[in-house]
Amino acid sequence: MKQVLSILGSSGSIGRQTLKVAQACDCGVAALTVNRSIELAEAQARQFKPKLVAVTDEDAAADLRVRLADMDIKVLAGREGLLAAAALPEADTVVTAIVGVAGLEPTLAAIDCGKRIALANKETLVCAGELVMARAKEKGAEIVPVDSEHSAIFQCLQGCKDRGEVRRLILTASGGPFYGMSREELSHVTREQALRHPNWAMGAKITIDSATLMNKGLEFIEAMRLYSMSPGRIQIVIHRESIIHSLVEFEDGAILAQLGSADMCLPIQYALTWPRRTVGPVKSLDLLSCPPLTFQKPDPETFRCLGLALECAERGGTSTAVLNGANEAAVALFLEGKIAFLDIPCLVEGALRRVHVVDAPTLDDIFEADYAARRVVYESVR
Ligand code: MG
Repeated sequence: MKQVLSILGSSGSIGRQTLKVAQACDCGVAALTVNRSIELAEAQARQFKPKLVAVTDEDAAADLRVRLADMDIKVLAGREGLLAAAALPEADTVVTAIVGVAGLEPTLAAIDCGKRIALANKETLVCAGELVMARAKEKGAEIVPVDSEHSAIFQCLQGCKDRGEVRRLILTASGGPFYGMSREELSHVTREQALRHPNWAMGAKITIDSATLMNKGLEFIEAMRLYSMSPGRIQIVIHRESIIHSLVEFEDGAILAQLGSADMCLPIQYALTWPRRTVGPVKSLDLLSCPPLTFQKPDPETFRCLGLALECAERGGTSTAVLNGANEAAVALFLEGKIAFLDIPCLVEGALRRVHVVDAPTLDDIFEADYAARRVVYESVR
């Protein structure tokens, strides 16, 4: 039976690619959500005919309601709209393609309805991974990762009967546009250079995270939460070619890897069709035209964001929510041209030093930590 989707964040890079996959794989679309990109939302709604479109911005929602007046589509606004899209009875899979901790509440709402979560919002697991995974288990909601590395690991783990057989997870990292640079060189890089990723076309926030290597740090924590692994059993390897998307080593020494073109449509599609595989829009990888595959050690001293994330992975509690909140705020300031590239790790480190860490946090503790971290960042640049 074909999946019916609710796509949270349909105007972003993952959202748009999800619609491409939905079309190729003949999935239904029951709900779409956007922040304020209503022109695109209107075009998507006319093409895919969902029951519901939610727009975070209230004025933009009112505008879209007028534009779609000739269609039988409900348009809702704000947080309520987002939560309604996450819980819509007609959808069986919710694709969480919202950027940042804003994805946490709707993800929990979808879990509470027992939906399959095609998880494209890593910040949710970074901030509240233990809570989210426990809730999913309790409600019987499947969480299938869309992040390419975590999808690769998920694919390598198919057929693995017992997690005790896994020795370690190996996360590959492209190294981003500034791989090999010194701190001195990093102090001069511009926003435009940071937005030019060598292998992947992605949204602005994750592209900056890839340039600072914070993305790999967040993914390290995401992998710990998804696969219940201690930090000591996850290794990060720089793999410039982005052909191997990640690997799993088993107790007998065998290593399984997942390879493919650098195309997010594949992990998106797998999250929708799992445990099956179907024909989709992804091109075959021609091994004969691949460059030699190389592997190097990451440098968490020069790329301080990675070092900070690894420290938080060890520390646990609300430290990962502080890390994430401070990073979201710092990246937003960098994208606005208000701070330099190396200010990002400095601001995150400052927040980690100043915000109190709570162990075994509740959801409220996590939201408070996130808020406190952002406040420290904004106050430091005023
Ligand atoms: Mg990734």
